[in-house]
Amino acid sequence: MSTDRVLELEGVNVSYGKVQALRDIDLHVDPGEVVGVIGPNGAGKSTLSDTIAGFKPYDTGTVQFRGTEVSTLTPDKLTEDRVIYCTERRDLFGFMTVAENLRLGAYTNRDNLKDRLEFVYDLFPRLDERREQDARTLSGGEQQMLAIGRALMGSPEFLILDEPTIGLAPVIIDDITNALEQIQEEENVTILLCEQNVTFTFRHADRIYLLEKGSIAREGTAEALRQDKHVKDAYIG
Ligand code: ATP
Repeated sequence: MSTDRVLELEGVNVSYGKVQALRDIDLHVDPGEVVGVIGPNGAGKSTLSDTIAGFKPYDTGTVQFRGTEVSTLTPDKLTEDRVIYCTERRDLFGFMTVAENLRLGAYTNRDNLKDRLEFVYDLFPRLDERREQDARTLSGGEQQMLAIGRALMGSPEFLILDEPTIGLAPVIIDDITNALEQIQEEENVTILLCEQNVTFTFRHADRIYLLEKGSIAREGTAEALRQDKHVKDAYIG
């Protein structure tokens, strides 16, 4: 197993009681890559994100960050190592303001707090306009921007994004697209993007895994998968 890899999964099986959600998953992410995981509802994308982030224990197999098994790392240690997970649930603090939620994202590293805040406000001007608004009163799109913005406050080296476009209007997806492009260009963050939105994923990812019923059905470069008959017929249309 290469320790140069940011992330490597081998033979990972995960279940909820009798329901097996992930089967024999082999997956890796190298430094600087954006790796997409696509798949229909219930394929196991969120289970995969939760497993990688150490939220969901795995039955068998290995999940390693830079050569260290994730089950031996605490959430604090992962955050200190700049591994940041932006969940599908967003997990915002509803009764705290936009600015307070953002500051919390930098709780392990407050060195460049002011610069990070400016970076996030520049990325999402809607958050800038709403600094003092409670998170619970934001629109769905604004909440998603806040969740991504808070993740960026931790200066991630590796960012796990679970369904960042779920339930969002096309115009908001455009804002998230522009922000991700800026993050890729300016910050060189390694990203794992678990997404049902195939167009969005193909736009950002260097390599893609297709997850179906808990198993990896296809994997390859975005270019190769775009030409794959099964992917074209079932997901691109
Ligand atoms: P979606 O795109 O709809 O969010 P997904 O690809 O993220 O789907 P998961 O949410 O990971 O898929 O679900 C994978 C499978 O695991 C599904 O069959 C789901 O019902 C099951 N599952 C997920 N969470 C639990 C849970 N807490 N308890 C029992 N089964 C679960």
